[in-house]
Amino acid sequence: MKIQAAIARAGSIVDIETCDLDRPGPDEALVRLEACGICHTDLLSLGGQLGTPLPAVLGHEGVGRIEALGAEGEGFTVGDRVLMSFAACGHCPRCDGGAPAYCDAALPLNFLGRRPAGTGPMSLGGTAITSQYFGQSSFATHTVAGLRNMIRLPEDLPAELMAPLACGVQTGMSAVIKLLGAGEGRSIAVFGCGTVGLAAVMAAVIAGYERIVAVDLREDRIAIAREIGATEVVSGDTQAIENQLRAMAPVDCALDSTGSTAVIESAFARLRRCGQLLCLGVSPGGREFGIDPRELVFTGRSIRGSVEGDSDPAAFVPQMIDYFRAGWMPLHKIVKTYPFAEINRAMADLRSGETVKPVLLMD
Ligand SMILES: [Zn+2]
Ligand SMILES: [Zn+2]
Repeated sequence: MKIQAAIARAGSIVDIETCDLDRPGPDEALVRLEACGICHTDLLSLGGQLGTPLPAVLGHEGVGRIEALGAEGEGFTVGDRVLMSFAACGHCPRCDGGAPAYCDAALPLNFLGRRPAGTGPMSLGGTAITSQYFGQSSFATHTVAGLRNMIRLPEDLPAELMAPLACGVQTGMSAVIKLLGAGEGRSIAVFGCGTVGLAAVMAAVIAGYERIVAVDLREDRIAIAREIGATEVVSGDTQAIENQLRAMAPVDCALDSTGSTAVIESAFARLRRCGQLLCLGVSPGGREFGIDPRELVFTGRSIRGSVEGDSDPAAFVPQMIDYFRAGWMPLHKIVKTYPFAEINRAMADLRSGETVKPVLLMD
């Protein structure tokens, strides 16, 4: 069938063009998209920094409705509304162990946008293009995606607020709830108040952290952090932030969503003894940071990275929906919608920091 899709070629903009879309394979579904969030990861892939073969259709926070099912489509019916999260093979040791974010096939299935068998389902002028980005390639009016990364979504939930649960919000929330744990009597500092960082602030409120420190260069983001529950804020230019951090009482946990080595070093320095630093920011790669190993040993502090906050979307997305229904996730404060036709403006607003989480509406 003919569809409209945003074609990414190397650079900073995409072109919406007419493509051909194949019928779904046995374990896939044809999905008509309602909405898709835009993540910094999409921008890095568009810029050629993550190895995604171009031309490609990006987009990995899709919400839509199943219009056709492959032969093995058990558990789903035509007409189901779904959220599409990251892809995993479902049968390697990591997938079996409940850690699909570390699937053995995570790279080809997500960043390289390859179908488990063969080429992508979209083609341009008879040539297949990368069209299974994160198992979905959702910057399009329709897509064919794997059933494994679909989670059924109740009818009453707004598409534009649910889309970010697929990646950005899931990452920040799961990092706090699943990895850092209960917050009673504890303190956390969140470095970088984009979608991941602000979702982490929401999660820290839910988990009951006593002190929640939000750090960002932008005053508008700090204002949102304060509105959604940060108890202390640190902002200003780089030097002003560093001075405030030095004067601040140390924290039990810190979370970096920037991927900046200077920020990671600074976050580590703010940890108290036995404190934990979690690194969540996807960076272009090839950077290094310095930490004195003696400091690491004598203070018992730890530092670790995490993809998608170690989430297992099949279990964690329904948990986030419960938090949303309880009124604990003020996602409307971070989401701004754009018509699909304005995808380039939406990406520019994400790049400049003007919008925290742009979400495209396809209808
Ligand atoms: Zn796997
Ligand atoms: Zn993402």
